[in-house]
Amino acid sequence: MHVIVERVKPPVLVVHGGAGSWKRVFDDPDYPYTLSDIGKLIRLSLEEGYRELKANGAVRGVISAVKVLEDSGMLNAGLGSALNLLGEAEMDAGIMASNGLIGAVGAVKYPRNPIELAYIVAKETDHIVLVGNGADMLAKSHGLPERTHPPDHVVKRYNRLMSELRQGKTTTLRWKRIRELALRYGLLGDTVGAVALDTNNTLASASSTGGIWLKHPGRLGDTPIPGAGFYANNKAAATATGFGEVIVKSMASKTLVDLVSQGLSLEEACKKTIIKAEEIGGKRVIGIIAVTVEGEVCLAYDTEGMPSGYIHGGGIRVIEI
Ligand code: ASP
Repeated sequence: MHVIVERVKPPVLVVHGGAGSWKRVFDDPDYPYTLSDIGKLIRLSLEEGYRELKANGAVRGVISAVKVLEDSGMLNAGLGSALNLLGEAEMDAGIMASNGLIGAVGAVKYPRNPIELAYIVAKETDHIVLVGNGADMLAKSHGLPERTHPPDHVVKRYNRLMSELRQGKTTTLRWKRIRELALRYGLLGDTVGAVALDTNNTLASASSTGGIWLKHPGRLGDTPIPGAGFYANNKAAATATGFGEVIVKSMASKTLVDLVSQGLSLEEACKKTIIKAEEIGGKRVIGIIAVTVEGEVCLAYDTEGMPSGYIHGGGIRVIEI
């Protein structure tokens, strides 16, 4: 388990680009990006998000950081989303803040930026989670930009996985085996997320993903489920990445925030949250980032890596993997 903790002066923003088997991602001949490309992207997301955090607060800060990652096509969210069994991107995203804002979308196909749609659900509807066609309808009615065709590396990966599946080399269709397959192929990881604390003490959390490769159409992971993939109250905000079904079972983001609210140190809360997920799903299942109202940040994962970083008045730190 890797745990990084630091206390800084707000405003502060933390982002991650997904916990997973990053070595295997870079070994994929079709994946055109390097470790340093990912590091540069994390830095860009931190810088853009921080500008917005200072100007317009924690909620717009986390949205802006996540949008940079969704737009990159390099990670499993937005443009670069993993494809389901039918070769379609069905994206999930969620947002929550200590001021009561909460919204999420699941299995959406239309918007370029699912996180912006989650914000619209929170601001403009009476609901918390919208999925599928209904959520896409809301995106169109608000004039959100449409997602374009997936990048080449995503299409190639899908074709390769499907051809392996056809040759009987995998058993992906058996959903209960998906974790094993995901770990074997390095398919977990590169979901994105951000948490922030602004100078008004608002805490915000945002998450966005394409889910897990070759998932069943219609599947929702942890990312659009409040308490699982994202959570915030007036003490802390957290967002998780990794094997969605395990994160839902362990309610990872809420577990972490509750532990901090009960007085546990952020470091202990992060460790306990990871251990709880491991008890349910085994090793290498989760990464999580969090910030407290005291300005403490935590980046923790039990996977091979989690590109991530944080930014505050005193500087910027990028963890390439
Ligand atoms: N948690 C995401 C999901 O299961 C995947 C990831 O974090 O990479 O949908």
